[in-house]
Amino acid sequence: METILFLAHTEADSLLAKSALEALGAAKTLAEAVTGSRLVVGLVGGDVQPAANSIAACGAARFLGVSGQDYGQSRYATDALAAEAICRAGEASIVIAPGTSRWSRAMPGLGQRLGGRVDTHATGVSVAAGAPSVSRWYYRQRMEASLQRVERPWIILLDPGCHAPWRGEGGAVTVEALRVDVPETCKRTTVTGVQAPPADQQTIRPDATLLFVAGAGWTKKQADGQIHAAEAADLILNFLRLSHASLGGSKSLVDLKGEGQAVLPFMSHLNQVGQTGSTPRHPKGLSACCHGEEPHVVGWRFITERRAVNLDPNCGWARGKADVLYVADAFEVMRRLNTLLGQK
Ligand SMILES: Cc1cc2nc3c(=O)[nH]c(=O)nc-3n(C[C@H](O)[C@H](O)[C@H](O)COP(=O)(O)OP(=O)(O)OC[C@H]3O[C@@H](n4cnc5c(N)ncnc54)[C@H](O)[C@@H]3O)c2cc1C
Repeated sequence: METILFLAHTEADSLLAKSALEALGAAKTLAEAVTGSRLVVGLVGGDVQPAANSIAACGAARFLGVSGQDYGQSRYATDALAAEAICRAGEASIVIAPGTSRWSRAMPGLGQRLGGRVDTHATGVSVAAGAPSVSRWYYRQRMEASLQRVERPWIILLDPGCHAPWRGEGGAVTVEALRVDVPETCKRTTVTGVQAPPADQQTIRPDATLLFVAGAGWTKKQADGQIHAAEAADLILNFLRLSHASLGGSKSLVDLKGEGQAVLPFMSHLNQVGQTGSTPRHPKGLSACCHGEEPHVVGWRFITERRAVNLDPNCGWARGKADVLYVADAFEVMRRLNTLLGQK
């Protein structure tokens, strides 16, 4: 029998983020698939009651919580203490937690404290040959593995976007509040603020239907022998505004800044997709002015439908890497696309 603990932290609004609801969906699916197991909820945050109420109908046998001012912020020392208290009280044998930056910092230490094992970047949980199993990608998403472990507790950090979020009715639940003694030495770190671009300048949107990837071609000399970086920036930003797409970039494009060449000012290394960049998850992807070389395209592993615009009919996308390749001038295509989107 397994006790499957869904372990989450609350957000600033005292509710659960989508990634947490996805982890709950995975925990519940696993609890249903493992004979004789039970689901327990553990929550950490400034005030955990609203989050607990929002998932009242999830079927958990217990709701455990550690709350208070000390837990309203992301801090390894207090997060690990709180998570440890919940795991021990809940007698968790498997812990499923969302792979947020906050939990990614605290969970490996939790595994050490409990003498358990931790797997990060899990992309799915299931049952194979009667035992819980985790799937995970290796070698920059080129190989997928299924893992089983005999050690307990087994702590699994589930990557965002890999499981359908749990949906259900809210209600009123009784949270078993756990008391944790926090020594002063655990409070030395304080979050003094968050630095983030304003919402309208935030180009990375993990929940967008479309990923738009810009390549270095946008900053190269065009047919008239001139560079049109300013127009490229306008076209891309207008497209993002009209389509609400997320913005990715090729390595060559994001590296240009460091080389002092014409750049798109809103593009940073955080936008880079590929072997040394990110592997975002979106239903659709559109690449423009990017060659489609393997180290870049390996980052498209989780893009379901791929399209590309390139002047070169022999570019990498033409070699089985895209579903549709438009051999065309991306400036013209995006100009026309923006006009059509603007008319909608
Ligand atoms: C170890 C290693 C790791 C790497 N990791 C990454 C990674 O994480 N991500 C990544 O992206 N790359 C990575 N690379 C680099 C990768 O191999 C390529 O060099 C890079 O992706 C090329 O970027 P690009 O296609 O934007 O630029 P380019 O190769 O310069 O291609 C520009 C394209 O724009 C097209 N073009 C120009 N003007 C127009 C126009 N008007 N309309 C349409 N098309 C036009 C051209 O035909 C050309 O195909 C890695 C390389 C190595 C060796």
